[in-house]
Amino acid sequence: AKSAGRNTMRFFDPALQAIASAFIAFELDLRHGLERQEFELHYQVQVNSVGAVTGVEALLRWRRGGTEMVPPVQFIPIAEANGLILPLGQWVLETACAQLVAWSQDPQRAHWTMAVNVSALQFAQIDFVEHVGQALQKTGAKPTQLKLELTESMLVDDIEGVVAKMKAIKGYGVAFSLDDFGTGYSSLSILKRLPLQQLKIDQSFVRDILVDPNDAVIARTIVALAHNLDLRVIAEGVESAEQRDFLAAIGCDAFQGYFFGRPVPAADLN
Ligand code: C2E
Ligand code: CA
Ligand code: CA
Ligand code: CA
Repeated sequence: AKSAGRNTMRFFDPALQAIASAFIAFELDLRHGLERQEFELHYQVQVNSVGAVTGVEALLRWRRGGTEMVPPVQFIPIAEANGLILPLGQWVLETACAQLVAWSQDPQRAHWTMAVNVSALQFAQIDFVEHVGQALQKTGAKPTQLKLELTESMLVDDIEGVVAKMKAIKGYGVAFSLDDFGTGYSSLSILKRLPLQQLKIDQSFVRDILVDPNDAVIARTIVALAHNLDLRVIAEGVESAEQRDFLAAIGCDAFQGYFFGRPVPAADLN
C-alpha cells in the first residue's frame, strides 16, 4: 500500500483490495441486517440437578442476506468495534423479554428464566440501567425471570460504577450471572462486592473434565468458591451424561450444553 494523502490509503495489491472490500461489504450487511430483520434468537435450555428445565439462554444468530448463517464469534466483535452492538444488544434484550411474555401463557414455560448475554460496550453505556428498564416495560416481562450474563473483563475498571449499575438493575428484580468464569481475572475481593446470583463455569474447563485433573480441580474450586459466596453455579458446554454426573457430584447446581439440547428457535424447543 502506498500512502495517498493524509487519510487515505491506496491498495495496489489486488488480494488486499479484495479483503478490504469484503470487510466493508460485511460491515454494511451487518448494519442493514438489523433493518432487514436478519437477526434471530435461538434458545438453549438450562436444567437443574434433577434434570428439570428451569430456563434458557438466548443466543444471537445472523442470517446474512436471509440465507448464510454467520456465527456470533464472526460478527459480534465487529459489531462491538463499530458500535452496532448497541442497537443490536437492545434488540436482543427486547426480543428475549418478549419471548418470556409469549411463554407466560404456556404452563410448562411460564416460570422459565431467560439468560441474556450483555456486551462490554452495552454494559458500559451510561444509560444501560434505563435500557434494561425500557425492555422490561415495553414488553411487560417479569424482571425476576430475566438474568443478565456479564463477563469478568467488563467488571474490572470503575468497580464503584459497575456495582452501582448492577445494584440498580438488581433493584428491578433482574439477576446476574458471571459468564465464562475462570477465564478472566476478577479478584476475589471484587467478586465479593458484585451483586451476582450465579457463576457460570466456562466450557473450556468442562470439555476435558473427565480426563484432565487440572480442569477437575478448577471446577471443584469454582463450585466451592461460589457456594462460599452464596452463589449458585451453572456449568456450560456439558456434552455427555458422564460430564453431567461428575459436575453434579462436585456440587454444580445447574447445567447447560448439547447433552440437554442445542440452541434452537423457540418453535423447536420441546
Ligand atoms: P457464550 O455466552 O459463552 O455461549 C455459549 C456458546 O457455547 C454458544 O455459542 C453455544 O451455542 C455454545 N454451546 C452450547 N452448548 C455447547 C456444548 O455442549 N458444546 C459446545 N462445544 N458448545 C456449546 P454461540 O451461540 O456460537 O455463541 C458464541 C458467543 O457469542 C457466546 O458465548 C457469547 O459470548 C456471544 N453471544 C451470543 N449471543 C450473544 C448476544 O445476544 N449478545 C452478546 N453480546 N453476545 C452474544
Ligand atoms: Ca453466555
Ligand atoms: Ca459462556
Ligand atoms: Ca464461552
